[in-house]
Amino acid sequence: MSTVIRGIGMTSQRTRERMLARLREQGIKDEVTLSAIGSIARHIFVDEALSSRAYEDVSLPIGFGQTISQPYIVARMTEILRANNTLNKVLEIGTGCGYQTAVLSKIAKEVYSVERISPLLLKARGNLRKLSMRNIKVKHADGTLGLPELAPFDGIIVTAAASHVPHELLEQLAIGGRMVIPVGTEEQILYLIERTETEYRQTKLEAVKFVPLLGGTN
Ligand code: SAH
Repeated sequence: MSTVIRGIGMTSQRTRERMLARLREQGIKDEVTLSAIGSIARHIFVDEALSSRAYEDVSLPIGFGQTISQPYIVARMTEILRANNTLNKVLEIGTGCGYQTAVLSKIAKEVYSVERISPLLLKARGNLRKLSMRNIKVKHADGTLGLPELAPFDGIIVTAAASHVPHELLEQLAIGGRMVIPVGTEEQILYLIERTETEYRQTKLEAVKFVPLLGGTN
């Protein structure tokens, strides 16, 4: 006879292992990315009423019309950004609840993340504080402008869909750096942009669905 305690069931190592097995089936191969994802409790980032669904492969509402990205897309973007290298300085545009930020903190030395909606940023700060992550700085700002004072970045990850790639972000990418960004309005495609000594090389990856990247702050 066994009693299931709800709080334990949904956050247990087994639940997370099932999530990792599913990510592998979906084609995620980078073990460093998988272990980063396996080490972050995703239920911390969603409202308690939704926490039983935190390890399903779905995006969930986080308030203010925004969502937490589904684990697959977080894994995929992290894997592409990493390209089997340890990253030094990463910029994330669109902190949301801070889940992707927390995953990035495991694969990069320093993580900077900007969010345009002030109360969401406060929520993200609270979530990240629970995990005591010391290599993350979050800022209330319009991410389409990047963070020029801290550039260049060897990785830039945009977690909202842009109508075009902002030139400020291209300029703030280090030579040899990589940017992962969804582009499009109705139909969105994930792009990888690599900066070389002489050019920006663009690779079209896959169809995605993100909330829009908006200008200004709120
Ligand atoms: N990275 C999050 C995804 C959050 S959804 C996760 O791990 O789940 C995308 C976020 O981008 C929203 O919170 C939205 O407010 C924010 N956003 C949209 N346009 C922005 C901009 N110009 N600058 C900063 N954040 C922006």
